[in-house]
Amino acid sequence: MSAKSKCLNPNCQNAAVTRGLCSACYVRANEVVRAGLTTWEKLEAAKKILPSQRQKPSAKKWLLERAS
Ligand SMILES: [Zn+2]
Repeated sequence: MSAKSKCLNPNCQNAAVTRGLCSACYVRANEVVRAGLTTWEKLEAAKKILPSQRQKPSAKKWLLERAS
């Protein structure tokens, strides 16, 4: 258990925010996935992001509730 985990990118010293990545690296991950260079599943399999199950499963629902 690590209360404050670091970004999974070994070249990055920022604190992890989303799926084990800092916000900057998560944006990069989002970009490469959107560009079709990889998928979230591949990144997860390569241990470059954490499984989404580690996030609160209700987060999406919660976000949408707040947004609407
Ligand atoms: Zn990072």
